[in-house]
Amino acid sequence: MLEVQRNVKEMQRRSRMLREAGKRIGVVPTMGYLHEGHLSLIRIARDHADVVITTLFVNPAQFGPTEDLARYPRDFDRDCALAEKAGTAILFAPDTENMYPEGYSTYVTVEGITDVLEGKSRPGHFRGVATIVTKLFNITNPHVAVFGQKDAQQVAVIRRMVEDLNIDVELIIGPIVREPDGLAMSSRNTYLSPIERKEAVVLSHALAFAERSIKNGERHSAAILLGMRQVITASSSGKVEYLSCADNRTLRELEHLERGDHVLISMAVRFGTTRLIDNTVVVVE
Ligand code: AMP
Repeated sequence: MLEVQRNVKEMQRRSRMLREAGKRIGVVPTMGYLHEGHLSLIRIARDHADVVITTLFVNPAQFGPTEDLARYPRDFDRDCALAEKAGTAILFAPDTENMYPEGYSTYVTVEGITDVLEGKSRPGHFRGVATIVTKLFNITNPHVAVFGQKDAQQVAVIRRMVEDLNIDVELIIGPIVREPDGLAMSSRNTYLSPIERKEAVVLSHALAFAERSIKNGERHSAAILLGMRQVITASSSGKVEYLSCADNRTLRELEHLERGDHVLISMAVRFGTTRLIDNTVVVVE
C-alpha cells in the first residue's frame, strides 16, 4: 500500500525513522501528472535504494508571474496509482502553505550557470528550483536523488549546488524518455493541440540533425544551429526561443567544437502558448 505523507514534520519524522532502521532512502522530486519519464526515474531509484520517496509538489517559486502555474495539469489519484506501481513506497505531497508558510523568506541562489538558457528565458526559475530541492532534501533526508536529463540545466544547477553546499546526497541522472515519434515526454505535452502535437516532433528531428552534422565532421556551432533552426521552421509553426551548443558542464556557448568536448545541444520552442524544451549531449570524436 502506498503511504501518502502530506505534512513536512511528519515526513521528516518518517525519514528519520527509516534512516535509524538502516534503510537507504531514494528520492524522486516531481511536479506530478506523472508519465513514463517520471516512472523511469522511480524505477532507477528503486534499484539504488530500499525505500523510494516520490515527491509531488507544483512549486510556485519556480514559475514566473506569466507562466502556467494555475493551469499546470494535476491528477492526484492517477499519480498515486502510477507512482506505487513503479516502486514508490512513500508519496510526499505537501500543500503550498506547509512548504511556504507566512513569513517564508529564505531562497537558494546558484550563480553563473543560471544566467543562460532556461535561466535567461525564465528569470527566477532556478532560484525556485534550488530552493525547493534543498527543502525536499532536508525533509526526506535521502541517500540518493534521481533527476531527469530532460531538464539538462536543472541537472547542472543541482550538481553545482550539491557540491557547493556540501550536501551529502548521491545524484543519479536518468535518460530522456520519448514518445514513439521522438517527442520528449512532458506533463506540458497535454497542452498541445493535435496539430501542434504532430509538429512538435521537429524538436527531436533538430537534435538528430545536430548529432548527424557533428558525426559528419561539422565543427562550427553556427552552422549546426542554423541547420537546426531550418529543420524546425521548415515543417512547423514552432517559434524558436533559443538554440544552444554549449559545454555540458559550464553551459558556456561553444563556437568551435573540439575533439573530446561534451556538447549540450539544447533548445526551447513555443507552439502557441506551450513552451517545449529538449536536449542531447554529444561527445565529439
Ligand atoms: P517535473 O515533474 O517536470 O518537474 O519533472 C520531474 C523530474 O522528471 C525531473 O527530474 C525531470 O527532469 C524528469 N523528467 C521529466 N520528463 C522526463 C522525461 N521525458 N524523461 C526523463 N526524465 C524526465
